[in-house]
Amino acid sequence: MIYYWFGAILLFLVQGLSFIFPDIFTGAAEYWQYNSSTAISVDLCIVLLLSVTEIWLRREKKVYLKRAVLLCGLVLSYILYFLLTPVIDGSEIVLIMPLLISLVYFERMLLKAFALLNILIYVVIALVPAALGLTRLDISDFILVMAVLIIGTLLGQGVITRSLEMRKAVEGLVKSEQKLIVEKTISDKLLKMDALTGLYNHKTFHEYIENLIQHAETNGVSIHLAILDIDNFKAINDIFGHWVGDIVLKEVAQVLLELMSPNDFAARYGGEEFALIFTDTTAEQAYACSEAIRSKVEEIRMPQLDGRTITFSAGLCSYYIGDGKEKLFRNADAALYYAKRSGKNRVIVHQIKGPIVCMT
Ligand code: GH3
Ligand code: MG
Ligand code: MG
Repeated sequence: MIYYWFGAILLFLVQGLSFIFPDIFTGAAEYWQYNSSTAISVDLCIVLLLSVTEIWLRREKKVYLKRAVLLCGLVLSYILYFLLTPVIDGSEIVLIMPLLISLVYFERMLLKAFALLNILIYVVIALVPAALGLTRLDISDFILVMAVLIIGTLLGQGVITRSLEMRKAVEGLVKSEQKLIVEKTISDKLLKMDALTGLYNHKTFHEYIENLIQHAETNGVSIHLAILDIDNFKAINDIFGHWVGDIVLKEVAQVLLELMSPNDFAARYGGEEFALIFTDTTAEQAYACSEAIRSKVEEIRMPQLDGRTITFSAGLCSYYIGDGKEKLFRNADAALYYAKRSGKNRVIVHQIKGPIVCMT
C-alpha cells in the first residue's frame, strides 16, 4: 500500500508542477488547467480509493489482504488511464500495472484471475462506448493493448512457474543439507559410542581423559580413575554362550549409567573392562560410588545365568599433578590386579604412599 501512496503523491506532485511550470509540461498543463475540476475530483477519487483499501486491510482477515491490494491496484490503474489518456500518448501502459502487482504474490491463480478481469474491463471500456457511437475505436491501438495484456499475462505465468521451480530446487537443497547434518550428527555419535553397551568407547575415553589431565594440570581439577573388569567372564561365555555374555555387559553398563552422576564419565574400555572417571569429587566419594556400583551389579539376577551372580573387580586411583596419563593407568591397573589376586568382587584404592590398601 505504501507504494500506492507513493505513486499517488508523485502524480499529485506532477500535476502541481504542471500548474506552476506550464512551459515544461505543455500538453498536460493545458489540459489539467482547462479541466482542473475533473483533475481534482479524480485526485480525490484516488485518495478515497486508497483510504478505503487501507481501512479494508486493517479490518479484514488476512485472507483478503492480497485481493484488497490487487483490486485497489486495478481500480487505480483505470483511474490513471482515464486521467492520462487525454494528456499522454500510450497511457494504456498503466493497464499493465495490475499484472505487475499480482506478480508480487507469485500465485498463478491470482495472476490469471486479475489478468482476465483486467482484459474484460479493457474490452468493455474500449468496445461499449464505440458500439454506442460515443467514441471512435482505434482498432490498431485496441489490438496492441490486447496483445500487451495477453503476452504480459503469459510472461507473468512463466515467471511464476520458473520461480516456483527454483523455490522447489532450493527447498530440496536445504532438505538434503539438513539430512546431511542429521546423518553427520548420528555418525559422530556412533564414532564416540560403544555399539553394544551405549557407553563411550575406548577412543573417546582417551580423548576425554587427556583433556581432563590438561585441565587438572592448569586448574587443579580432581580426577579419579576406576578400571573395572568383570570376574570370570570367560566362564560365563563358555557356559551360557556369548549372547548371554553380551547381555551381562549391557546390564553392567546400565548400572553404571544409573549410578554415576552427570559429571562422571563411563566408557567400555574393551572386552569386559570398563573405565570410569570421576571429576570434581573427593577420593572417598569416588570410592563410595564404585562400591555402590559393585554391590548393585552383584544383585543383578538374570534368568539366563541359572542363579549365578555377576561380579567385578576394580582398581581406583586418584590423579596427582605431574603424574601424566600413563602413571595414572599404571596405578589403577596395579590396584585392579591386587583386587583380582585378593579374591575378586572388590574395589581396591591405590594409595600414593605405602602398599595398595583395600578399603572394603
Ligand atoms: P578374570 O576374572 O580374571 O577377569 O577372568 P575373565 O574370564 O573375566 O577374563 P579373561 O580375560 O580370561 O576373559 C575375558 C573374556 O571376555 C574373553 C572374551 O572372549 C570375552 N569377551 C571380550 N569381549 C566380549 C564381548 O564383546 N562379548 C562377549 N560375550 N564376550 C567378550
Ligand atoms: Mg579382562
Ligand atoms: Mg575379567
